[in-house]
Amino acid sequence: MKETDKESFRDSLTTVGSQGNRLWVYAKEPKGFFTNRRTFVSLLLILVFFITPFIKIGTKPLFLFNIFERKFIVFGVLFWPQDFHIFLFITLIFFVFIVLFTAVFGRIFCGWICPQTIFMESVFRKIEYWIEGDFHTQQKNDQHKDGIAYKKILKYIVFAIISFLIGNLAMSYLVGIDKLSFLITHPIAANKGLFVGVVIFSALFFFVFTWLREQACTIVCPYGRLQGVLQTNETLGVVYDFIRGEPRGKISKNMPTTTTLGDCIDCKICVQVCPTGIDIRNGSQLECTNCTACIDACDTVMSQINRPLGLIRYDSANGILTKKTWSLTPRVVAYSAVLVGLCMVLAYSLVSRKEIEAYIKRVPGTLAQTNTNGNITNLYNIQLINKSSRNLKLVLVPNKSYAKVKIVGDLLMVNHEEITEAVFFLEIPRDKLKENKQEIMFKLMSDNEEIAQVKTNFFSF
Ligand code: SF4
Ligand code: SF4
Repeated sequence: MKETDKESFRDSLTTVGSQGNRLWVYAKEPKGFFTNRRTFVSLLLILVFFITPFIKIGTKPLFLFNIFERKFIVFGVLFWPQDFHIFLFITLIFFVFIVLFTAVFGRIFCGWICPQTIFMESVFRKIEYWIEGDFHTQQKNDQHKDGIAYKKILKYIVFAIISFLIGNLAMSYLVGIDKLSFLITHPIAANKGLFVGVVIFSALFFFVFTWLREQACTIVCPYGRLQGVLQTNETLGVVYDFIRGEPRGKISKNMPTTTTLGDCIDCKICVQVCPTGIDIRNGSQLECTNCTACIDACDTVMSQINRPLGLIRYDSANGILTKKTWSLTPRVVAYSAVLVGLCMVLAYSLVSRKEIEAYIKRVPGTLAQTNTNGNITNLYNIQLINKSSRNLKLVLVPNKSYAKVKIVGDLLMVNHEEITEAVFFLEIPRDKLKENKQEIMFKLMSDNEEIAQVKTNFFSF
């Protein structure tokens, strides 16, 4: 085969026809060592996905990502938009971790952890096999469309129910299980917005798992498209041992191993099981999600023809060429150092995170006033964010003994996990003011314990 012919598979997508039409992938059901383990891991992760919204630490959920109210809870700890820097570090750590992980293990995340693959391969496709049969039957049914309509309808009903379930659960991560329970147990009119959200989520999941499928991984997912820059020749992944496999050709059981042919008998079962429709024998490809289906398929063939397993296996491109096992590379060391550094900064940010945050600003549009006793007063707004789990009654103590604080309403109270605002006057004798602008520091005291410091400016004339 000419070099250009070998590379011709790169000129087109296996799921797109010459007219730009979609070529539907009918994947053969994989069976074997890796499939069993992936099914186990998938069920475990699905279980975690379904029970997590019900887990609470005290009164708070384990996780909540309420983007609507800008309220985020991670492991029962409430974070506010004011903790944005912590989220920034967590996001950075996540991305560096993904880059590091990909440099070492390739797309193992896609095959084993990604919710798209988990639900597609371990839930929706399995249901499809149960209801419609294996890939040949599905293909025949779609071509002839006779007498199988009820199976398709049944499949879509089951898909819709599961999508609705996933849609509800996904929404509970955003609004919390209590709000979702309220929606379920009350008339829709009581919470139309949430209901619309659940319907949109469910429709989206139904669309993704019924129609979009592998296109989500091969065309939509940005992580998939970044593989070219994230992976190296040392990166582990699902690879075909072309040294052992080529030249490929038909051989039969017990044929002498002295044959000039390689171990690949060109049965194409590895292609038939591939959910993205590619031929792994062409080499590492962007469409490969490392789902391991082709490893199991090829191992089954190898055991049937009495050849060693692992013609397709987890290995690196260099591993195939040199037969050496994976070793640490400078790139991995550099990524790891950045990751450790970011984790340390995050740990410091979490440890030094304050229970309460306070912001004091002069009430807009107000000027310094002279009292009847000749003292000068400024009017301020104080905003308090209580991130702790206790209600706080606060006293505002200025660092100048001659400065007097008068809270409008007398009490400075902020309940746990709430934001409150108050207005207060600050009064200073004129003879203590040396300049028109003076910095004042306040201590926020609760039960004689200093819990925060905040500063502002006092103006006079
Ligand atoms: S399953 Fe194995 S033997 Fe069959 S075509 Fe694929 S690589 Fe070759
Ligand atoms: S090539 Fe193999 S590992 Fe990659 S997506 Fe296809 S079946 Fe899965």
